Amino acid sequence: MSDDLAKLANLREPFPHNQISKLPKPTKQQTEAIRQDFRKGVRCKVCGAWHHPDVVHLDYVGHAALTDRLLDVDSCWSWEPVAWDDNGLPRFDGNGGLWIRLTVCGVTRLGYGHPDGKTGGDAVKETIGDALRNAAMRFGAALDLWHKGDLHAPAENGEDESEDGASVSALTPEELTLLNNLDAAAEAGPQALQMAFTAIPKSEAKARVWAAHGPRLKAMADEHRRADDNPPAPGEEEQA
Ligand SMILES: [Zn+2]
Repeated sequence: MSDDLAKLANLREPFPHNQISKLPKPTKQQTEAIRQDFRKGVRCKVCGAWHHPDVVHLDYVGHAALTDRLLDVDSCWSWEPVAWDDNGLPRFDGNGGLWIRLTVCGVTRLGYGHPDGKTGGDAVKETIGDALRNAAMRFGAALDLWHKGDLHAPAENGEDESEDGASVSALTPEELTLLNNLDAAAEAGPQALQMAFTAIPKSEAKARVWAAHGPRLKAMADEHRRADDNPPAPGEEEQA
């Protein structure tokens, strides 16, 4: 068992530079400005896309690199959807998103993915890849990249049960479970995060988790609200 834990720790190892890609994250105003006049955009030298010149980029790890890492850690890793539809296919939610369970070295954690504006078959593949990336983050994969991106995001006011300056070096299993749930909710936007937060009974564990991760979770939820400004297409499920 401790052998498995040691293997799982490898998921936290930083990804090499050549496996890190750049994802443009325009604000609503930037997206709107380009929509009204595309000449206000530039062909970006960082990511190759056409977007507003002031867009911030987030580092992220692509699907191939992530799959490579999962295979390195556990060649028998697997995922499954949390729910199935009547045709026996993974069930997508009302936002075109998908909840999955990712199992690595016998440990299972939840993840959530969405199609990020893609349509058709690409939307399904993007959603699965996004869910895997999201679930793998619960194991620590590319966690440093998320932190880096979030440092630039504005903090919001809100419910904050933390003591000032509380530092949390290690989380208990109970706290980790709480954090996993809040992380997954934050991926679905601010409203989902708020609902998940409210659903957790007040406790010391909740306060500790929020003290250590609240600003990051809020920033993450906010990023996904912005990403949703480009309305995602509904998950198009193949009819069997
Ligand atoms: Zn760019």
